[in-house]
Amino acid sequence: MLSVSEALAAVLREAKALPAVNVALSALPLGQVLAESVASDVDSPPFTKALMDGYAVRAADVEKVPAALRVIEEVAAGKVPTKPVKAGEATRIMTGAPIPDGADAVVAVERTEMAGAEVRILVAPRLRQNILDRGAEMKAGETILKPGAVLGPQELGLLAAVGRESIKVHPRPRVAVLPTGDEIVEPPLKPGPGQIRNSNGPMLLAQTARAGGVPHYLGIARDTVESLRSLIGEGLEKADVLMLSGGVSAGKFDLVPGVLQELGVTSHFHKVTMKPGKPLFFGTRGSKLVFGLPGNPVSSFVCFELFIRPALRRMLGNADAGPVRTMLPISADFKTDNDRPTYWPAVSELADGHWRVRALPWKGSADLRALHTANALLEIPAGPQSFAAGHAVGVVILS
Ligand code: AMP
Ligand code: MG
Repeated sequence: MLSVSEALAAVLREAKALPAVNVALSALPLGQVLAESVASDVDSPPFTKALMDGYAVRAADVEKVPAALRVIEEVAAGKVPTKPVKAGEATRIMTGAPIPDGADAVVAVERTEMAGAEVRILVAPRLRQNILDRGAEMKAGETILKPGAVLGPQELGLLAAVGRESIKVHPRPRVAVLPTGDEIVEPPLKPGPGQIRNSNGPMLLAQTARAGGVPHYLGIARDTVESLRSLIGEGLEKADVLMLSGGVSAGKFDLVPGVLQELGVTSHFHKVTMKPGKPLFFGTRGSKLVFGLPGNPVSSFVCFELFIRPALRRMLGNADAGPVRTMLPISADFKTDNDRPTYWPAVSELADGHWRVRALPWKGSADLRALHTANALLEIPAGPQSFAAGHAVGVVILS
């Protein structure tokens, strides 16, 4: 049986960045990863400009203050100065307006006072104070974003600043979600005897969306070869990733691995040394990834976070697949004993200015309610473990 890290390595060997597509900036979801190099088409700023409302002066004229200067013109943003500033002169200038020839500092208006046609400079400026030189931010032809850059709000602003309307990114992977089980009913229905509501479907669709995938719901497959065959076939057609829940354990009606094999899916592993989530199946058909998650909701949830989310991150082009791991002091004494490495629902939180992790009360893989508020998982080694409050423990951060 593979360890968690071996299983993740096996998944990441198969999860490749999806071929890049050109997307309009206006339609670009946040967090996409750039698949090209972007160069600026302009110097920025495009001209040497004022950073303050005030007076463009020659610094040498105002070394001794107060100093009176003759105001020769007024330049608003969007206008161009027509006169050079000569000795004894100043130009009234607004933020963003081009600096007139001859001027080498801008004195903020608050540090001046008007006296008829003259301005009195009250505080001597430093040379080039409140001036941003042409090209100081970036030069035409300069590379400003490289492949692999994650595109958030500030990067979108930057792309707009260099005139881009569309951009090459790795598209969001399409993820088909297929819950299985004869006992599963859709949430509006009241479960009859022996039935259980489909909580995994909505949860996995939401996890997919949170991880940057495009969720596609296939409905519930029943525990028959025919039902599984038709819906698995549909999922393999439509999606880059097929994610099943249920039907991968050792029960008589756990038919998923057999049907996957029949449909040409190559198995990479089936079972991982972990709790919950041991029966996890992973296979591929061509470039398509197939995950069979154990049906218990916490198992499904944990398997998604540890394996599928990293796979989606890779398909989106992220160099760092995650999951994010750290060590945090545990908030209360904690004792447990498991035969496998265990992922325990937990909350990482700021308490009195320090990050801590708090284990949630948890009754095992069927206890979905315990996951409410969980934003982390304790990563607990196999065997008897006992941590005193304040002891640093391994944590997987979820969001
Ligand atoms: P299985 O992996 O099919 O053996 O299912 C394990 C457990 O998870 C059983 O108790 C199932 O009833 C439950 N289960 C399976 N699928 C779902 C689902 N979509 N939503 C909630 N529970 C499920
Ligand atoms: Mg089942």
